[in-house]
Amino acid sequence: MTTMKCPRCSSEKIMPNLQIRDRAESLLFDEDLEVVVDSKPSAVFFKGTHYEALRATVCGECGYVSLSVKNPKALWNAYSQKKDDKD
Ligand SMILES: [Zn+2]
Repeated sequence: MTTMKCPRCSSEKIMPNLQIRDRAESLLFDEDLEVVVDSKPSAVFFKGTHYEALRATVCGECGYVSLSVKNPKALWNAYSQKKDDKD
């Protein structure tokens, strides 16, 4: 793995792929914070919802945070299937 540098302060104290948890939820579930894409947003049921867990990369020096998802291609697939389905 290559050494990562903070884009803000150039520190190498980078902590990649940290889990982001909702505190209240995590008392009951080991749940990730997620981004959501509905491929059929106008449907009442079966919206074709795709969830993708958020991961944070945090600088241990200045606190810079960048977010990414585990599986961007799956999310993009759901997003690109998005239709204005009016039925
Ligand atoms: Zn930094």
